[in-house]
Amino acid sequence: MSAQVLVLNQNYEPLTVCGWQRAVSMVYVGKAIVVEEDSRILHSPSTQMRLPTVVKLAYHVNRPMPKLKLSRQNLLARDRFSCQYCGRRGKMLTVDHVIPRDRGGTSSWENLVACCAACNNRKANRTPREAGMHLLRRPRRPKFIPYLSYAVFTAAVKNPEWRYYLEPFAPHLVGS
Ligand SMILES: [Zn+2]
Repeated sequence: MSAQVLVLNQNYEPLTVCGWQRAVSMVYVGKAIVVEEDSRILHSPSTQMRLPTVVKLAYHVNRPMPKLKLSRQNLLARDRFSCQYCGRRGKMLTVDHVIPRDRGGTSSWENLVACCAACNNRKANRTPREAGMHLLRRPRRPKFIPYLSYAVFTAAVKNPEWRYYLEPFAPHLVGS
C-alpha cells in the first residue's frame, strides 16, 4: 500500500509530507495526533487503526524561515504552468517580462509571468497594453508558508484531503 500523509506542526502549519508508515509510528509513540483519516484500516498483531491522511505533531517545532527563491520553476508553479495571457497549459512555456526589461521592467515576482511561445511572439517587446493583451491575473509574490518546498506544496494542494489545511497559506494556488 502506498499512501502519503500530510504532517502539520502543533499550530496546524504544514510541515512536510511523509509515507504512512512513518506517520503511523509517530502516532504510535505519541509524537503525533491523527487529524484526518481514511476509510482504510491498518492491522497489526496487537491493534488496528484507520489510515491517517493528516497528522499533527504533539509538540511545536521551530524552524528557520527559508525565503522563497525567484526561479523559473517556482514562477511557473505559481502560474500553474499556464500562459498568463491565453491560459494555455504546456511544457513549452517561457517567462515574460510584463514591462519589458529595456523599458525599466524588473525581474521580480510582480513583473514576470509564464507565457506561451505564441503569446510571447505576439507581445514581442511591448507592454500588454501596447500589444492589446490582457493578463489573466495580476502577478504577485506568492503568499507562501516556509516549511514545505514550493514544489511539494503545489502538488500537495491538489489532494482534496489536504487542501483544507494548505489553502490558507497560498490562496493564489487554490480556487480559480
Ligand atoms: Zn499564451
